[in-house]
Amino acid sequence: MTFLSINGLGKTYPGEVHALQDVTLEIGKGERWAIIGSSGSGKSTLLRLIAGLEVQDTGEVHLDGEKILNSQEKLVAGYDAIQLVKQDNGLFPHSTVAENITRPLLQYDKEYARERLDNLLKLFGLERKREAYPRQLSGGEQQKVAIARAMSLEPEVLLLDEPFNSLDSMQKRDLLDELNLIFQELELTLLMVTHDIQDALLLTEKLCVFSSGGKLVTKGKISDIHQDPKSAYVAGFFGPLNALPGKESQFLRPADIQLKKGIGKLTGKVLMNRYFPEFDLLSIQIDGAEQAWQVAFPERGLSKGDTVQLTWNEARELHLPE
Ligand code: ADP
Ligand code: MG
Repeated sequence: MTFLSINGLGKTYPGEVHALQDVTLEIGKGERWAIIGSSGSGKSTLLRLIAGLEVQDTGEVHLDGEKILNSQEKLVAGYDAIQLVKQDNGLFPHSTVAENITRPLLQYDKEYARERLDNLLKLFGLERKREAYPRQLSGGEQQKVAIARAMSLEPEVLLLDEPFNSLDSMQKRDLLDELNLIFQELELTLLMVTHDIQDALLLTEKLCVFSSGGKLVTKGKISDIHQDPKSAYVAGFFGPLNALPGKESQFLRPADIQLKKGIGKLTGKVLMNRYFPEFDLLSIQIDGAEQAWQVAFPERGLSKGDTVQLTWNEARELHLPE
């Protein structure tokens, strides 16, 4: 059943900048969605509109059947039930973790605020950082405090706008694992903007992809979109594509190619071999192909200059019109 309903949303900024065009998206309670798309494709605008912090030209947003009023229709813009966390975590540098987290609760009953703080510190594993200042925390801990603060008002929808950009990959992995468990336990409805498909794979099960001009080009389960990406633009977010020579709009992914002895479908020459944890990433010059192919080669042991035979299961060929 739809919980958060986005219907025909459109927004054009002055100067004919189409930030969003006719965007419709139905989100169930407790679903976790990632939003990916090129820079300027309207992702942040969408989150601000969902939060009621922006004024749309067309369309409506409903949460649990109730219309979200925009900043022109409502005296105090925004909703407790819908919280937005941005990339710059916005923590107060001269306030402790506890003060930062309880800041949105200043008008609330003191007992409730303390209870909520204790719960959140426990949930996010921040009990020992209670009295620390933001500068004394790691990047991952700072983002946890920012998310804990957004959750102090017990929102039903959490919107994350590229909040993990400043983290190194190990910090990010740990944090995303932890958030995944927390969000599942709370059945929180999540929309997360990211430019890194890995974030989506680690934290969300659904994905929507935006392209320039604010068009929603595809939406659905991540696994379905990965297996049937419909366009080279969408497939490109999951990794490089190799264009099949002489076959228009046909592509292969690096992991779908095997190198064999004897005669293959194509012949190539190794240009580069880079060590990756799970495979060697080979760059291979293919007879008849304009661009070198990327091939994941778990067996390892090839060197620059080696001649290789390439083969693949034809069912793995992707037909991707532009
Ligand atoms: P994204 O988050 O996908 O990078 P945004 O939603 O921030 O994209 O922006 C979409 C488009 O709208 C961009 O072309 C951007 O320059 C423009 N835009 C965003 N906010 C404003 C604004 N307040 N005034 C004018 N143009 C804006
Ligand atoms: Mg943005």
